Amino acid sequence: MNSKAQSPFKVNLHELPRRAGEMREYAFSFPVTEPIGVPLLQITVGTEISLQFKAESVDDGVLITGEVKTHAKGECGRCLDPIDFAIDQRFQELYLYVSRKSENPDEDDELFVLDGDVADLEIAIRDAAILSMPVNPICSQECEGLCPQCGEKRAELPDVHGHEVVDPRWGGLSGWNPSSGPEK
Ligand SMILES: [Zn+2]
Ligand SMILES: [Zn+2]
Repeated sequence: MNSKAQSPFKVNLHELPRRAGEMREYAFSFPVTEPIGVPLLQITVGTEISLQFKAESVDDGVLITGEVKTHAKGECGRCLDPIDFAIDQRFQELYLYVSRKSENPDEDDELFVLDGDVADLEIAIRDAAILSMPVNPICSQECEGLCPQCGEKRAELPDVHGHEVVDPRWGGLSGWNPSSGPEK
């Protein structure tokens, strides 16, 4: 098999009796081997992911309900400071028995299916983690960002901070010659 066989997101549910109503609890953690998220905010390789969930036998498969805890690293969209974003997100997915897979392939695309006793939680966990991440991460709601003129952090600048508007005639417009303008 390929390396996916070793995926830490796969959980073997052989201890769970296949009778509706039976339930087992699981908890484990592992370092991620592929980044999750976007470059602006991502769970980097090596970051520990903790999973805690219960698996319940239902008529058509196994319902998995739990939470994922980890953290993502990124950059504040306003001041560019590094940020560490805590993730604590609940998730719930139904994993169907292969025998209960419907005949309709379109419908099956949306569903998770057990591989024997094994449920692959990767997509469920990735989706839950990404769902919990803000689209525009900021270091704090109070972040004042950067001065658009000098790029310094507003929080570190004096209360009264501004830039004199430089007259373009004295600015860095080398080669600018007033007599060559469109003026007639
Ligand atoms: Zn910030
Ligand atoms: Zn400034």
